[in-house]
Amino acid sequence: MSEALHDAFGRPLASLRVSVTDRCNMRCRYCMPEDEYVWLPRESILTFEEIARLAQVFAGLGVHKVRLTGGEPLLRQDLATLVEMITRVGGLTDLALTTNGLLLAKQAAELRRAGLRRVTVSLDTLRPQRMLAFAKSARHADLLGGIAAARAAGFERLKLNTVVIRGFNDDELADLVEFARAHDAEVRFIEYMDVGGATRWSMDQVVSQREILDALSRAYGRIEPLQEKGPSRAPAERFRLPDGTTFGVIASVTAPFCRTCDRSRLTADGAWLLCLYSEHGVDLREPLRCGATNEALAALIAATWRARSDRGAEERLGLPQRGALYQLDRLRADPHREMHTRGG
Ligand code: SAM
Ligand code: SF4
Ligand code: SF4
Repeated sequence: MSEALHDAFGRPLASLRVSVTDRCNMRCRYCMPEDEYVWLPRESILTFEEIARLAQVFAGLGVHKVRLTGGEPLLRQDLATLVEMITRVGGLTDLALTTNGLLLAKQAAELRRAGLRRVTVSLDTLRPQRMLAFAKSARHADLLGGIAAARAAGFERLKLNTVVIRGFNDDELADLVEFARAHDAEVRFIEYMDVGGATRWSMDQVVSQREILDALSRAYGRIEPLQEKGPSRAPAERFRLPDGTTFGVIASVTAPFCRTCDRSRLTADGAWLLCLYSEHGVDLREPLRCGATNEALAALIAATWRARSDRGAEERLGLPQRGALYQLDRLRADPHREMHTRGG
């Protein structure tokens, strides 16, 4: 790997989230509360060759972890082919996928064969009626089938992501821990974030890491924090229950981890975002399609990363009156501000 590239705060460029589509077959209230959206124009969506080429340029600059996301990444036609192309990029040590799981039963084995190593499935509730009310999807059984298929396909360290929202699923924490244990997976509870798309966000709906731990200790007894080996930059803090079951909490609202943030995001149409909260991205599609060499792309990326000083979640923490980041008109004016466009 090349010498690590660092930003203005000394944070390396190490992890890239690639959104392969802005489309989704769910409508989670914390991400896509509307029925209709301004979609990215079809011709602007990067081809697999373009994504793989950018992955190669990023890997040359020190990125070693790539996560495919969206929107719902499994809606992208023939995703296994992209997985296979990315596995051929030298320097990558980790290739993972985040999915809502609805289409996973059909695709898990093929993705594993193509070289995908890890999968995270979003699972906010074990109750089909709640999912219908909260995400406008009646396909809870497909989600559970997707989790079973991922287990059967042999992915390493299967993770389940749960966004915890007061009054919606905060009474299911122990049930989700039990479900994860029964499926040989690890659940990660995520604080509800005021990202673009979360137009109905308010602080009182956020269930903090402290509250999550308190609720689980009432159910299970003493919870022990796990000491991660090595220089961990993972956002999730991991914990152990008295019986040895582990789980994670991502405290992105109450204890943000901007100080060690080594990740950036590429939208499906080639906008590169330095932070989940960035107002704008850097357009990589235009130079890519205008014949820029890999060296020229690398120079643009390196110069941009060196100047990076983003710490969006920490800045939000300091706001006296915190509400939704954007209202609908500003999201409609630029869909790149949407969480489902920039990739979670
Ligand atoms: N559609 C896929 C899925 O849901 O797993 C991948 C994209 S989704 C944007 C990625 C992750 O972002 C999901 O785990 C989702 O729960 C999380 N997410 C979306 N909006 C969020 C919010 N307002 N706060 C916290 N997490 C959020
Ligand atoms: Fe839900 Fe993921 Fe779709 Fe957003 S992109 S609405 S989090 S399934
Ligand atoms: Fe990284 Fe921005 Fe998230 Fe902070 S808010 S952890 S800088 S992506």
